Amino acid sequence: MAISKEQIIHWITSYAAVVHENKELLTQLDAEIGDADHGASMDRGFQAVAQKLPTVAEQDIGAIFKSVGMTLVSTVGGASGPLYGTLFMQMSMKAAGLQELSLAEFAAAFDTGVKGVVMRGKANPGEKTMIDSLMPAVDALNAAATNGASIATALHDAERSAYKGMLDTIPLIARKGRASYLGERAIGHQDPGATSSYLLVKTAAETLTDA
Ligand code: ADP
Ligand code: MG
Repeated sequence: MAISKEQIIHWITSYAAVVHENKELLTQLDAEIGDADHGASMDRGFQAVAQKLPTVAEQDIGAIFKSVGMTLVSTVGGASGPLYGTLFMQMSMKAAGLQELSLAEFAAAFDTGVKGVVMRGKANPGEKTMIDSLMPAVDALNAAATNGASIATALHDAERSAYKGMLDTIPLIARKGRASYLGERAIGHQDPGATSSYLLVKTAAETLTDA
């Protein structure tokens, strides 16, 4: 049982639609503790990704992830463009040449991608960023892969963990990015990047699960 290239493409195109549907939510969350552009930025980036995907659909999963990452970097400014770009470009390294991914391969790719985001943004868990939903998802995926869980179980565990991580950002003070300028005033607000990252994991759980 593996994750097919077609499922990977479905994941990314579905996420572009999910971002579009949640544009106002992401904008609203960023209006509370940032500069109200996260919805527009993510939507612009993933619409560009969705446009570009058909031109790389015949290539391997690594090349597809690389195209996603490069498109995000070139279309999204601010903090989130380079960070989501890094996520996908680092994932591409582990998926180079592959037409499908086992759960262990997907977990390893996601792990490498999130480590790349940490290297690039220097955020630790608990600093009210996208890392707070991505890292618990990685931990859940790795644990599930080690325990021999099914892809569906692993991804639902990851979704639940990312959801909790997202909600756990609400009481935090931000230590990275624009929201860090607010000090204690960021308390009580959910982090926009943690929200878009949760949606990425949720969409994975909906699209990459066993047939
Ligand atoms: P900007 O802050 O430049 O306007 P966005 O609004 O698109 O960019 O994205 C903001 C999100 O980026 C934050 O909610 C946070 O999750 C994430 N973020 C900001 N800085 C970092 C960082 N150093 N590491 C990880 N994530 C970060
Ligand atoms: Mg912003």
